[in-house]
Amino acid sequence: MSKPRIFSGMRPTGRLHLGNLLGALDNWVRLQDEYECVFAVVDWHALTTGYEDTSEIKENIRNLVIDYLSAGIDPAKSLIIKQSDVKQHAELSLLLSMITPLSWLERCPTYKDQLRELEGREIMTHGFLGYPVLMAADILVYKAQIVPVGEDQLPHIELAREIARRFNFLYEQVFPEPQERLNEVVLLPGTDGRKMSKSYGNIIEMSASTEEVNSIVANMVTDPQRIRRKDPGDPDVCSVYAFHKVFSKLGVDDIRQGCSSADIGCVDCKRKLASTLNEYLEPIRERREAIRRTPGVVDEVLDDGAKKAGIIAEATLEDVRKAMRI
Ligand code: SF4
Repeated sequence: MSKPRIFSGMRPTGRLHLGNLLGALDNWVRLQDEYECVFAVVDWHALTTGYEDTSEIKENIRNLVIDYLSAGIDPAKSLIIKQSDVKQHAELSLLLSMITPLSWLERCPTYKDQLRELEGREIMTHGFLGYPVLMAADILVYKAQIVPVGEDQLPHIELAREIARRFNFLYEQVFPEPQERLNEVVLLPGTDGRKMSKSYGNIIEMSASTEEVNSIVANMVTDPQRIRRKDPGDPDVCSVYAFHKVFSKLGVDDIRQGCSSADIGCVDCKRKLASTLNEYLEPIRERREAIRRTPGVVDEVLDDGAKKAGIIAEATLEDVRKAMRI
């Protein structure tokens, strides 16, 4: 029996950080053996909010593929594709847009949230309103049964199911209804204790070198009340401790105890964290270095992905065109 199929993707909008690695990529790596996976760089989605300045998109696509590969996505097990290489995503999106009521898109909570977040930007476009349809097409073109997502993406999966159901009802049963698989929630704040976000400048990129990690960690925000070495600290208000909780599983109780009793100082505590993070990132760095030493590997992976994904997607489109009698 063939394995169930998974589809997931990320927008190429810049270098990934530790939050992306823990919240999504590590999860994808684990899914590779159990499922037939298609992991996409969804470049058309990047245009829905970033159509005005496309100067960095090519480089961002490349870097995202390198991030996928260095995180451990194995092209021998999974398909890695660039969305715009597989034109069937666009054809299916167009056909599904014919049957998707406008009200479904307008009531989508992520649409309203993004409008608020990106206030002032010219994003009242057809493409932006319709991006959940493109997302549904991304999933349905592979007849994917499972979509690993974060909680914020749940409305899109629900919409993809509704669109699939409507198509199956109007024409004939072509699509399975995709189900979400929630990524494990990892509570990793930014290096200043706020939400980890590129726009706050408080991230640690997954491509960070040892020196960069050491320097970022040395500047992390700690308990502001702990002014002198002999002052006891409160680990619960310290971003360094929040990182220890995620990465230093075995030593975390000692750190809590040492901080509250002032047995360890912040400098040593940060050194410990930097060393743990560097250890965690080492295999990723090794894979990145191997990619760097193999010119052409990114193009090869994408070409191969496009070829194989194109066969699956075209078979779906044949079913769709036949069902719609076009
Ligand atoms: S000892 Fe560690 S956990 Fe405590 S305040 Fe300093 S950096 Fe934070």
